[in-house]
Amino acid sequence: MTTSTEWTPSLWYDTFNELLDDDSELDYGDRWTLKVNYNKTDEITYEERKKGWKVSTHQANGKFQCVSCKKTWGSAQVRLVFRYRLLGGQGTVIMRPFGQACLRCRGDKFNLPGFDKKEVEQALLRQFYKIRKNCYHEEDGEKAEDNGRPSSESEEKTKPHKNHLCQACRVGHCCLDDKDDN
Ligand SMILES: [Zn+2]
Ligand SMILES: [Zn+2]
Repeated sequence: MTTSTEWTPSLWYDTFNELLDDDSELDYGDRWTLKVNYNKTDEITYEERKKGWKVSTHQANGKFQCVSCKKTWGSAQVRLVFRYRLLGGQGTVIMRPFGQACLRCRGDKFNLPGFDKKEVEQALLRQFYKIRKNCYHEEDGEKAEDNGRPSSESEEKTKPHKNHLCQACRVGHCCLDDKDDN
């Protein structure tokens, strides 16, 4: 299987629009847009919450390539944070991908993840499910219910998480670190 190791925001924007336009994932008449941010965490301030922001996190399968030594590796523990809100007919999703450092080079240089389209779809379908539930108060069940879990859960459990290489861990926002995470 060929998975790009390159971080490709356009793949996310295109898939986002495809799922909305072709598959009508959010068929409520509001306009939804996706943005990418490289600084936001999963922490929502009181002010932000008052303005309608919600947050969800996701673990995806991604691939990396070190910008220095060109080593490549895969990870089932690529952390994504989605902040989202619906305000006056305009829905906004802001995604932040967390990087990983190279095992060989270590250091503070975090490489951004590449994904294949299936992973992008899976992450976005899960996000749309959250939006239907939390912004439109749609009942549980129906479609996307089975998109709620990472595809490689067993792999996640057997592979220890390399905290020192994980950017999310480094800034203290990794759900794999969180014993009470559900
Ligand atoms: Zn390297
Ligand atoms: Zn981590």
